[in-house]
Order: sequence, then structure tokens, then C-alpha cells
Amino acid sequence: MAGRKVCIVGVGKIARDQHVPAIDASPDWELAATVSRQGSVEGVPTFRDFDVMLAERDDIEVVSLCLPPQPRFQYARKALKAGRHVMLEKPPGQTLAEVHHLQRLAAEAGVTLFATWHSRMGKGVAGAKAHLAGKEVTGGRITWKEDVRHWHPGQDWVFEPGGMGVFDPGINALSILTEILPKPVHVLRADLDFPNGRQTPIAARIEFSRGVAMELDWLQTGPQTWDIEIETADGSHVVLRSGGNELWIDGERKPVADIEEYPALYARMADLVSEGRSDVDLSPLVHVADAMTLGRRNIVEPFAF
Ligand code: NAP
Repeated sequence: MAGRKVCIVGVGKIARDQHVPAIDASPDWELAATVSRQGSVEGVPTFRDFDVMLAERDDIEVVSLCLPPQPRFQYARKALKAGRHVMLEKPPGQTLAEVHHLQRLAAEAGVTLFATWHSRMGKGVAGAKAHLAGKEVTGGRITWKEDVRHWHPGQDWVFEPGGMGVFDPGINALSILTEILPKPVHVLRADLDFPNGRQTPIAARIEFSRGVAMELDWLQTGPQTWDIEIETADGSHVVLRSGGNELWIDGERKPVADIEEYPALYARMADLVSEGRSDVDLSPLVHVADAMTLGRRNIVEPFAF
């Protein structure tokens, strides 16, 4: 049987790095079109205008939005109103209210909305969650340090309002934290470093309830750090490294899942569409919104790509 037809919107870094290979490798999916003002994928029909694609391609059931968060809402709204199932790259919107609105539209149209969190599909995340189930968390540390120039070369949108700055990667850590903790935490305090003249932070330190602390830095060159450590009242110590893909429990490395993050997202989307369900969890975005609301702002060195 042919795969479900999907259209990628926004052929840029993440579409090329992850979405196109994941779709190509899956028998469940067929990349039937792209919509991008400049980008394209060889051998796949390209539309420059989203409205034209929606009008001309009734056969496309699913739209996968790989745009930056700022323009994403308008595209998602149109796709849902046109009766298409929609996959949202993370973060699912610029604001919580945007995504609440999309949830209502999806329910009205009877279609699937999937707010994806690729890091939740990290290979060690399910094992960490299973180990922590029913335990009392007494502390934790998130260390997320990467090089913005490598991961977002020339992408000025990350420093524009709605781009979230260092929370663009930081929300990946929060998507794991909110998945594995048996009970939720909330932001108590935040310190945010804004480069002079930029609209979003380049570094942040956040304190959550239950003794969980988070350090985000977007200027780390050399080895990149994407680690989460959790301690529990019964003396257990859970460590996720490599963005959720490696798991250690009490110092011992544990076996993890086989499937990579993006193939796992598309497998989940296939299931959601088949089952007629949506999956929209906004808890990682709530933490970002709270950190931005409570955060003390420090002005630091200007940043240029
Ligand atoms: P990107 O390459 O800067 O943007 C993707 C594409 O979106 C661009 O190539 C552009 O294509 C289109 N686009 C940009 N601004 C637009 C606008 N205002 N209106 C319409 N189209 C626009 O970004 P990305 O790195 O792929 O990130 C996209 C999303 O994926 C973000 O939410 C990000 O958090 C997430 N993500 C990124 C990474 C990563 O490593 N970069 C990893 C995981 C997730 P055209 O000019 O051809 O229209």
C-alpha cells in the first residue's frame, strides 16, 4: 500500500536534516509536495504559495510545518481549515494561546494536530520515565550548552520576538523533563542574558520547584552538552545524556530504544491519524513562558553570527 501523502512546508535546515530522510525511509509516508519560497526537494513537486498547494492538491492528507515559530500559526490555521492533519515542529507556536486556538480548529475540523517534541523521542527517555515512575524527585540539573552558530547558522529569527533565543534548544530539555518527571515542577526564578540589541536571551539560568535547576548557554563551542540528571528520595540517580539518547541509572549505562527521533515522530503521526486522535502537550512551552515572565534581564555582549 502506498504511504500517506505529506507536504513539508518550509524547506530549510530541519526539513533537510531530518524530515525528508525520515519520510523517505518510511513505508508509511510519501513526500508528495513541498511549499517553500526558495527551497525545494529534488524530484518532489514544489509550490511557492501555500494556498495554491491547498487548492490544487486534495490528495495530500498531512501537512508538516517545518517553518520557524513566527509564521507557523497562519499556515497551521489554513491547513486545519482546509481539513488537513497537521504536524507542528517544536516549539508548537510563539505563544500558548496560538496553539490553544489550533487545538480548537483541529477538533472542529475532526483532524489530527500533533505538536511534536523530537527530544521526547530520544532513545533513553522512555527508560528514564519508567524508572522514575512513582518516585519522589528531590533534585535535578539540566545542562544544555550548544553553539548557536553551528545549529542556527545565520538564522536571525531566533533572536527576533517569538524566536525564543536559547529556549529554542532549551525547550527540548523541557520537553524531556516534563515527560519523565512523575509530578510536575514549576519555575521559581530565572536569570536571562540578552545580547545588547537582541530581543531574546542567549543564556539563562532557571530554578524550578523540587530542587531542579537548569543552565542554558548558546555560546558553547567544542563538545556540546545536552544532559539531564535527576535524584530521587530513595537514593536513585538518573542521567540522560546526548539530548535524551543515552541513559545511566545509578552509574550503570542502560539499553535504550532503537528508533531515531524523527522516524519515531512520523511513526507516531501515522498512528494518531489512523486512530483519529491529536497529541498536543504544552507543558514545555508553559515553562518557557513562565521563565520569560519571571526572568531578570541582564544585558550582555552583542551577538553577531
Ligand atoms: P530555518 O532553516 O531558518 O527555516 C526553515 C524554512 O522556513 C526556511 O528555509 C524558509 O524557507 C522558511 N521560512 C523562514 N521564515 C519564513 C517566514 N517568515 N515565512 C515563511 N517561510 C519562512 O529553520 P530551521 O532550523 O529549519 O527550524 C525550523 C523549526 O525547526 C524551528 O521551530 C526549530 O526550532 C525547529 N528545529 C530546528 C532544528 C535545527 O537544528 N535547526 C532542530 C530541531 C528542530 P523558504 O525561504 O524557502 O520559504
